Amino acid sequence: MIRFTDVHKSFGSLEVLKGIDAEVAKGETVCLIGPSGSGKSTLLRCVNGLEDYQQGEIAIEGARVDAHAPSIHQIRTQVAMVFQRFNLFPHRTALENVMEGPLHVLGEPKAEVRDRAEDHLRRVGLADKMNAHPAALSGGQQQRVAIARALAMRPRAILMDEPTSALDPETVGDVLSVMADLAHEHMTMLVVTHEIQFAREAADRVLFLDGGRIVEQGPAADVLTSPQHPRTQDFLRRVT
Ligand code: ATP
Ligand code: MG
Repeated sequence: MIRFTDVHKSFGSLEVLKGIDAEVAKGETVCLIGPSGSGKSTLLRCVNGLEDYQQGEIAIEGARVDAHAPSIHQIRTQVAMVFQRFNLFPHRTALENVMEGPLHVLGEPKAEVRDRAEDHLRRVGLADKMNAHPAALSGGQQQRVAIARALAMRPRAILMDEPTSALDPETVGDVLSVMADLAHEHMTMLVVTHEIQFAREAADRVLFLDGGRIVEQGPAADVLTSPQHPRTQDFLRRVT
């Protein structure tokens, strides 16, 4: 579904991605872990063209991702992104935030969009918060609105960049449980996270990125329980 072939990315003279080869299969949840500065966010941002790359290829269902081509707009409607900070529209309600994309980007009929938006908000446990504005919601609730908003676009895949790391500890669990539900329903997801327990339980595979290279990848149970590479071992010792 998402295939990385020898992807290189530099910011000026700083090479941040040094030849990434990996794949996220349809229906699979892949967690991307690694130290700060290793290139996780950059890799994710290259997938929907928020950053360009200089060498190699990222392809989504065989179609090359090119940040500078007109096709990038369509790719962005098909690959949703959930950020660390939820980026909701502050003057719109939860429901209006979820309706925004399908209504104005996809141009779908309002009644249908509303019904589906309500379903998505119920699914993330926010049936009673549909008419609340973001400021009246906890961080965890706002992040669940952001996930509902991503789902409302009926994406082929969802990218998440540390979706729980800006949250108060007591609201993290609700967001992780929505993410785990999506994983079990075989939504295709690439998730940058430091939540190793989540990765262990919900991910099909784990990629460990260090210094712009994937130094280890494999089934979550293998990489997280018996990592082979000393860098992975060291990283996991520090975060768990
Ligand atoms: P963290 O865990 O702290 O979020 P990360 O693994 O997501 O880290 P990136 O944000 O991808 O790391 O950054 C990788 C490297 O690229 C870092 O050295 C960072 O300083 C650099 N970098 C990221 N964005 C830019 C930019 N827009 N311009 C220049 N350098 C950048
Ligand atoms: Mg990052």
